[in-house]
Amino acid sequence: MNENQRKESQLLTPENQDKKIEKDYSKYFEKVYEAPSLKDAKKRGKEAVQYHSDFTIPEEFKNMGKGRKFLIRTYGCQMNEHDTEVMAGIFMALGYEATLDVNEANVILLNTCAIRENAENKVFGELGHLKPLKLEKPDLLIGVCGCMSQEESVVNRILKKHQFVDMIFGTHNIHRLPNILHEAYLSKEMVIEVWSKEGDVIENLPKVRKGKIKAWVNIMYGCDKFCTYCIVPYTRGKERSRHPKEIIDEVRHLAAQGYQEITLLGQNVNAYGKDFKDMDYRLGDLMDEIRKIDIPRVRFTTSHPRDFDDHLIEVLAKGGNLVDHIHLPVQSGSSSVLKIMARKYNREQYLELVAKIKAAIPNLSLTTDIIVGYPNETEEQFEETLSLYREVGYDAAYTYIYSPREGTPAAKMKDNVPMSVKRDRLQRLNALVNEISAEKMKAYLGQTVEVLVEGESKKNPDVLAGYTTKSKLVNFIGPKSAIGTIVKVKITDTKTWSLNGEMVEETVEVR
Ligand code: SF4
Repeated sequence: MNENQRKESQLLTPENQDKKIEKDYSKYFEKVYEAPSLKDAKKRGKEAVQYHSDFTIPEEFKNMGKGRKFLIRTYGCQMNEHDTEVMAGIFMALGYEATLDVNEANVILLNTCAIRENAENKVFGELGHLKPLKLEKPDLLIGVCGCMSQEESVVNRILKKHQFVDMIFGTHNIHRLPNILHEAYLSKEMVIEVWSKEGDVIENLPKVRKGKIKAWVNIMYGCDKFCTYCIVPYTRGKERSRHPKEIIDEVRHLAAQGYQEITLLGQNVNAYGKDFKDMDYRLGDLMDEIRKIDIPRVRFTTSHPRDFDDHLIEVLAKGGNLVDHIHLPVQSGSSSVLKIMARKYNREQYLELVAKIKAAIPNLSLTTDIIVGYPNETEEQFEETLSLYREVGYDAAYTYIYSPREGTPAAKMKDNVPMSVKRDRLQRLNALVNEISAEKMKAYLGQTVEVLVEGESKKNPDVLAGYTTKSKLVNFIGPKSAIGTIVKVKITDTKTWSLNGEMVEETVEVR
């Protein structure tokens, strides 16, 4: 930060801030900065996806991080968690060190989530907490990235109310982090670089993975489904798949490093390969190859029922390292609501798909996402969700009250359902979710399960915790040496959301 910037930051007190914003605000979007546009983000052109694998740190930035520390706060889904791993990799390649202490950090990034209002409020709350730190340490760089940055309303709000933020960048250009940081160190104005274009695929970005046991592997980016409530197709761009070779090489590399589990990631993984112009290669083909790699567990998320094809079911039924757990968001049990949501399937089609998967994979664990209180959802329609939940007999569900997202079609719908009714529906649904989970857990009593041990239990360091292939949390007493391995545990007690047991055997041969 230069002298002018320092003075400017010091002048940025709550009293004079509004005046300054009044003066400066209009100029931002007229300048060189690239601002988000939901209108542009909605466009889906016919241009082929561009693949880049030439990422390098420019010579002049190589010492940028010397003597500096970074901290990234991550909100939202696994995709964001994985983006954070990539950004951490870039920071390290620039010579920065990681820290978990905000007071020690020279750069703080908030990697944000736009899926619900609640998630956005948390980020604005965090910015409020960081403001005094910025006033105290004007050299500190504060950045906002991730899905919220792709929204015009968010960028406008940051410009109006949080002008101490130094940089805003989006989901399509995290590979530009070195340039954005460089610009932020030199500029006395907020650096905004948000691309609304459809997005490319950037390979060979550095990564610092969070753990040594489980790893995320992106297989595709973006979403073209445009469910009427969802902001993701606007914030993450069009569907574009990584080449199978890149993915398979990454998984092989993870296997060689001793990772025990990988999760293939994408907003709509079942659309994998749809965008390939030169080959007919879909998720089933990819899973069939990954199945042969020597890694104990392979998962994938998130699925859209519409693209879940028979070949994929056939491959998943082969088992092996492909786990017997599928997350299959339904969102509502009412065909009328599903239509308004533009989910592109109805209740009957969803149930048929579930029946087909269950027939191919007996003892499957199925989990889902459900939104209650969609605009104008009637009591009868909500009860159809309850009945579908019972009929499928899910193992678990992420349940939410509908949250309007500016720029989406649903946000413009009139809504006659009072919040008290929505809350009541959520409670009733959650009671059912708990009831069925507790029943399913009871069936484990006396059984022996294979557990991938992830570490000490959060509640008790003397207890180890891990997950079964069906994603059931198991707590048990065992040696710390078991962490990172798959062990057999006999279940002695069951709770609604976890199992307790005793270790019976140390390492399980699962390959
Ligand atoms: S498929 Fe998923 S990510 Fe895509 S629009 Fe629908 S809810 Fe959003």
